Amino acid sequence: VLDQRAYESCGAESVLEPCFEHLSVVRFTEFELNPKIEDVECGVRLCKDFKPDIVIALGGGTAIDLAKMIGTFSVQDDAPRKIALGQAFIKKSGPPLIAIPTTAGTGSEATHFAVVYVDGEKYSCAHSTLLPDYAVVDPELTSSLPKEITAATGLDAFCQAIESIWAVGATDQSIIWATEAAKLAWGNLVTVTQSPTAESRAAMSHAAHLAGKAINVTKTTAPHALSYHLTSHYGTPHGIAVAMMLSPILAFNSEVTDDDCVDPRGATHVQNRIQTTCKILDSANVAQACEKIERLISQLDCPASLTEIGVVGYEATWQMIESVNLERMLNNPRRTSSASLLKLFTNE
Ligand SMILES: [Zn+2]
Repeated sequence: VLDQRAYESCGAESVLEPCFEHLSVVRFTEFELNPKIEDVECGVRLCKDFKPDIVIALGGGTAIDLAKMIGTFSVQDDAPRKIALGQAFIKKSGPPLIAIPTTAGTGSEATHFAVVYVDGEKYSCAHSTLLPDYAVVDPELTSSLPKEITAATGLDAFCQAIESIWAVGATDQSIIWATEAAKLAWGNLVTVTQSPTAESRAAMSHAAHLAGKAINVTKTTAPHALSYHLTSHYGTPHGIAVAMMLSPILAFNSEVTDDDCVDPRGATHVQNRIQTTCKILDSANVAQACEKIERLISQLDCPASLTEIGVVGYEATWQMIESVNLERMLNNPRRTSSASLLKLFTNE
């Protein structure tokens, strides 16, 4: 499962083609950005005909998520659409998967999740067998990425790390991975976008992979839950859509009390995680941390506010709030409601 453009430009082609020479290989390259169920169905048909011994995914999160679903869904009795919609379950393991990320972003090579859009709505498949068997994380493969993609995918890694730190599902181990990932991303995102060096590329690849390992344990939280609507309805790249939700939700979560705390460890535990977040961002308090996050997004030449992408007025804001993924929302440390989110985004 190849992102053809990435394959040709990232340097992998010249390494992998000689390996493929004496093998029987079928390539699946005809797919759009952000996995669609139609693309999964297409790949599954190909996979059923060819019956590969192994699947290789090369590209960003889209190629890797597609490869996870194609290999696994191709051996199930139920149709891909039914599985994606949660009407049928994964019962068998597909062929082994080698994931080779060409972006430093989703960390999909380290997770057992796959995102798929069905009729414009985002669904998330989760199963232990979706976790790739091998991952080849080579920062050199990210060196030909255009600036915009480096910025957007790097922001995704950064947000996934921060969200993982305060997630209800966080464990001592996941917090260690997420904290390290957040520090690396915070320290390198501007450099890797504006004037990339081998060191900053390596740091971002490491950050993305660690953030992937962390969310594989914790799952993401409110910024991700709110972001999918912005990607599917406004075409905002995933990482940017998540990033513009990060500072409002940091401010929101910092006001957690025992009355609205979802984390069974209590509000003090969550407050400690918020303090960890501020410390990573070299900030004395939450207001300063929020300001720094917004400045970071602007420094990467990405839109930092809903207004900039066209989400203006009560109706548009309400639609975003109504579209949230409730499962991810339940993983947010402070309980949210439509009313509290409306207040947060409209100051009403
Ligand atoms: Zn993400």
